[in-house]
Amino acid sequence: MSPAPAPAPAPARPAAAAARTIDLRKVYGSGDTTLAALDGVSVEFGRGQFTAIMGPSGCGKSTLLHCLAALDDATSGQVFIGDAELTTLNDKQLTLIRRDRIGFVFQAYNLVPTLTAMENITLPMDIAGRKPDPQWLNTVIGTLGLADRLDHKPSQLSGGQQQRVACARALTSRPDIIFADEPTGNLDSTASAEVLAFLRRSVREFGQTVVMVTHDPAAAAYADRVLFLADGRIVDEMTDPTAARVLDRMKSPAPTRGHARVS
Ligand code: ADP
Ligand code: MG
Repeated sequence: MSPAPAPAPAPARPAAAAARTIDLRKVYGSGDTTLAALDGVSVEFGRGQFTAIMGPSGCGKSTLLHCLAALDDATSGQVFIGDAELTTLNDKQLTLIRRDRIGFVFQAYNLVPTLTAMENITLPMDIAGRKPDPQWLNTVIGTLGLADRLDHKPSQLSGGQQQRVACARALTSRPDIIFADEPTGNLDSTASAEVLAFLRRSVREFGQTVVMVTHDPAAAAYADRVLFLADGRIVDEMTDPTAARVLDRMKSPAPTRGHARVS
């Protein structure tokens, strides 16, 4: 009799998500004009993954990012950053999570105009009374090609350079997750490619987790996964996207039922 086959190895436990939502809803307005900007979004963002979020203007992309990043409250449902459920935290705890565990990159850079590039990069950590790890700071600055721009004010930098400063600012505290809302929306294609290549590299080389909203199939192709949002819901998903496949998906007729009206 042949020996009993060895039991199959237990499947590896999936890494805990860097962030996730359960049945997230965000309702704006009241009375006849109530609108569910997010209408039951349940999604996970795995650690070390680069996710792009796409969808038509007004479909809830920024609302989702803001709820995930503790910049806005949900109406109902749950948001977790790691094991921390944001909906159960008080303002002080939320401030600490935003400061220590989340990085945010805005389309409009949001740099402080009176501060130099270097001062902008270290500002969140200065406010927190923490010293950036000098070696890490050097790595970030070198990777972003900002070493000879550190004394410049934002007005002396191109849009692409300003957005790279904003990326460095988001990364310096080594947050658990970086959210970027159309980070290349104001940039030309060369500057966009630099910022996107950096985000990609931060995932591949530094294990960073990135969630990025974009309109641009070429930008989405830098991600590991693309989520498609419509009318406040996740309607589709694609792994290992290429620009051509994303473009095809965007062209395919999607049912438009409109944001749910709540009455
Ligand atoms: P996207 O980023 O995909 O363009 P948003 O998340 O900004 O979309 O908006 C989703 C929906 O919620 C839109 O219909 C928008 O008009 C509405 N909305 C966003 N912010 C507010 C607000 N502060 N008050 C009322 N409605 C809002
Ligand atoms: Mg938006």
